[in-house]
Amino acid sequence: MQKIKLVADLHIHTIASGHAYSTYAEVVQVAAQKGLQAIALTDHGPAMPGGPHRYYFGNLFALPEKEQNVEILRGIEANIIDRDGTVDLPDNYLQMLDLVWVGLHIGCLQPAGKSINTEAVLNALANPYVDGIVHPGNPNFSIDDEAVVREVIKRGKVLEINNGSFVMRRGSKTGCLEIARMVRRFDGIVALNSDAHVAANVGCSERALKLAAEAGITSELILNADLERLKAFLKSRGKRRFQKNQDN
Ligand SMILES: [Zn+2]
Ligand SMILES: [Zn+2]
Repeated sequence: MQKIKLVADLHIHTIASGHAYSTYAEVVQVAAQKGLQAIALTDHGPAMPGGPHRYYFGNLFALPEKEQNVEILRGIEANIIDRDGTVDLPDNYLQMLDLVWVGLHIGCLQPAGKSINTEAVLNALANPYVDGIVHPGNPNFSIDDEAVVREVIKRGKVLEINNGSFVMRRGSKTGCLEIARMVRRFDGIVALNSDAHVAANVGCSERALKLAAEAGITSELILNADLERLKAFLKSRGKRRFQKNQDN
């Protein structure tokens, strides 16, 4: 079995999320110690109880693009807040960010049955600033997996295998495995992320790696297994920062 190494962690929370425990500086420190080449700060969107105001996302440009040799991507884990797929940060903010995840979260949206959950996700995917879906496979929010996987791939976006799903969202494994297998069959890509809510967990994606291997996902299908692949993806997604010279 090919040994896969992840070079980036694209789903990390800081104290700005309201229920996470480490600062930006602590997160960067751990990422550098672990030899990661890139991280994405993806605090929860403003609809999350205790989440940051939209100005937090508007001001992420106060951060350097690179620190201690780690590329710092300014992102969000936005919330889908209705069946129309509305996300909780306006487009003029979303368009400034390097990475926009969306997800379904209790506290921001009531689970409403498979067809309405699916409709909400498919509508959110139509937003051009949305880059991918976090932690699909969550039994609290059942979705039509195949419809979502096909739509993500059709739109050149990415699905996440979330390391936290196996602990925080119990019962996710079956759904995650099924989704990972579909991504492979339909020629999509995945990102394997920690969903760290404390700095010590930055870069910890072992469970997600194990599941990916079980689904037959190889390194080439993993967005964050290669820095150039990640940069090319962000460029293809029209991110301002990556429209510049590739040297940056
Ligand atoms: Zn959280
Ligand atoms: Zn989440």
